[in-house]
Amino acid sequence: MDVALATGWLRAVAESVAAEADELTKLDSAIGDGDHGVNLRRGFTAVTALLDGTAFTSVGDVFVRTGGTLISKVGGASGPLYGSAFRALGKALPAGPSATLPDLATGLRAGLEAVSALGGAVPGDKTIVDAYRPAVAAFEEAVIGGAALPEAAAGAARAAGDGARATISLTARKGRASYLGERSAGHQDPGATSTWLIFQALADVTAP
Ligand code: ADP
Ligand code: MG
Repeated sequence: MDVALATGWLRAVAESVAAEADELTKLDSAIGDGDHGVNLRRGFTAVTALLDGTAFTSVGDVFVRTGGTLISKVGGASGPLYGSAFRALGKALPAGPSATLPDLATGLRAGLEAVSALGGAVPGDKTIVDAYRPAVAAFEEAVIGGAALPEAAAGAARAAGDGARATISLTARKGRASYLGERSAGHQDPGATSTWLIFQALADVTAP
């Protein structure tokens, strides 16, 4: 992955988050406070401005600065969580203009660990982790199996989508939705859904 692909991925995330903002907000209205789409659209609009205004020479820096932007621009739980994930991804990549596929797998795993450390959620808590964790596992498995980036990204996106849909039946144990207790069941988690959008964007920009 080089700087152009990294910025292309983030621009695709920004487009997808803007297109799906109403849907994300609808999901968050059911079990939260109805701001997830607005939060992420604001954050990724700021990321787009960052990309427009910066000539990056290091692929890691693209993600580190993206993370910092999300932390400073996104209110709510998801800003610090996604911000930390992108920062950890960027910090895990070697300095320089490009990263290898194993580097990227390591970085995505570091992002998941950052989300887990900051938010304390475990699988089944109906959070970002329920889409992110299977996505990273699928990505790693594909890389170990010799897949190239497009195939690994497609597998990760599929796993994230499955994970997001599987949150419907779960009862939330972290974040705002946990205040609803069992009434949170029957609704898809907004954060797991936006995590799927992020991995789907990587699959889309790398698709042959
Ligand atoms: P807020 O809940 O503060 O309004 P958002 O609406 O932007 O923030 O984000 C809500 C999403 O954040 C939830 O759907 C959930 O996926 C995710 N989330 C909340 N708390 C945690 C946590 N501790 N760990 C992982 N993800 C979390
Ligand atoms: Mg919210």
